[in-house]
Amino acid sequence: MSLDSVVIVGAGHGGVQVAISLRQEGFGGRIVLVNDEPGLPYQRPPLSKAYLLGKINATAMLFRPETFYVDQRIELVHDRVAAIDRQNRRVMLDSGSALDFGHLVLATGAHNRPLNVPGSTLGGIFGIKTKADADFLSPLVKQARNVVVIGAGFIGLEFAAVAAAEGAAVEVLELGDRPMARAVSPQMSELFRAAHQGWGVKFNFRTGLAELEGEDGKVSAVTTSDGRRLPAELVVYGIGVIPNVQLALEAGLDIDNGIRVNSSLLTSDPHISALGDVAAFPCVQNGENLTRLESVQNAVDQGKLIAARLVGKPAPYTALPWFWTDQGNLKLQIAGLSIGADNYVTLGDAAAQQLSVLCFRGDELIAVESCNRPGDHVFARKILARPPALTPAAAAAPDFDLKAWEAANRP
Ligand SMILES: Cc1cc2nc3c(=O)[nH]c(=O)nc-3n(C[C@H](O)[C@H](O)[C@H](O)COP(=O)(O)OP(=O)(O)OC[C@H]3O[C@@H](n4cnc5c(N)ncnc54)[C@H](O)[C@@H]3O)c2cc1C
Repeated sequence: MSLDSVVIVGAGHGGVQVAISLRQEGFGGRIVLVNDEPGLPYQRPPLSKAYLLGKINATAMLFRPETFYVDQRIELVHDRVAAIDRQNRRVMLDSGSALDFGHLVLATGAHNRPLNVPGSTLGGIFGIKTKADADFLSPLVKQARNVVVIGAGFIGLEFAAVAAAEGAAVEVLELGDRPMARAVSPQMSELFRAAHQGWGVKFNFRTGLAELEGEDGKVSAVTTSDGRRLPAELVVYGIGVIPNVQLALEAGLDIDNGIRVNSSLLTSDPHISALGDVAAFPCVQNGENLTRLESVQNAVDQGKLIAARLVGKPAPYTALPWFWTDQGNLKLQIAGLSIGADNYVTLGDAAAQQLSVLCFRGDELIAVESCNRPGDHVFARKILARPPALTPAAAAAPDFDLKAWEAANRP
């Protein structure tokens, strides 16, 4: 019997892409997109960048206008899926109604890891995950004089750059010893450290958060793990996310740091797929180890793959991971995964804030980080997507150029 209906839980990058791709692939059945956030589905990356700075408005963040969903017969349901009845292939909604599904797609994303210290329920303390978060923050960041950011990862530093641009004094607390340490090379961390310091951001490395102090229910100061007191009217934290697996867990699906899926992105139930931030998949670029990636590219490419499978075109997920972050005048683009990198070759000029770092594991090129060198990123993606492999010796040659090497070594 052919598939007649797909219910998608979550209308972020992954869920919306499944719906769009299903129609593009010619699926004629019912598509229902259930989302627990208000309004039309929107993109998250601008929440900590352009939208927060007021450079783009809410309409510019939408994936598609309302007419698109109507024209494409994609039913948008504003509700929360409360439970999955696998036996009867049905989901139960908070409102009390139920939806039957031929296939179910879980695209529930992740939520921010909360701060767990005394005072964390005071006013003026924010994570950034939703448009509602950014709408709260946007006027506050314009007024705040003293801002403390907890965590020097992507989100924390994107926010630090915005707050510094708005004229606030910004202190960043970070347990590690360099910015974005889990995701980028020491060379790239150094470029970003210097740039942020140039904008007036102060880093406190190897420093945790001990307590948040308040006045009249609002945060007024932060006490660090080494006993210092930093004034703060606004505290923003970005200390990682926790995948939204509750639904899947209660339905008895396999969970392993996310909803466990196979290389086709099927869960342990053949009628249910999962993707995006919530899914742990065997990642080719990470030695087939179960991996959860938090990026637009991953959610979008996985959405396309699931839609193709549902119309009878199955394929394993092998897409090359890539990612970007914008901080001040810096655009960092990363192709590949640098897990296990032990050898780096740099191209360009860190002082001029135009640098690419080629990350090798032994002789194998596994990732390329490019700051303000978009051309390198384009060619890095091509080079990483196929053999022959570029070696550290070749990359270290004088006047080495990624574009020329790619052209000369095209299969
Ligand atoms: C501030 C911010 C900046 C970012 N910047 C970048 C960037 O620069 N580059 C990049 O590549 N990535 C960036 N990301 C990450 C990127 O946005 C995510 O990887 C991507 O959104 C993941 O898509 P998803 O569909 O898996 O989940 P999400 O986009 O998180 O969508 C999940 C949706 O499901 C809903 N939901 C959850 N449970 C239920 C339920 N039971 N019923 C109904 N609905 C439910 C959630 O409310 C949410 O709306 C950023 C993320 C944030 C928060």
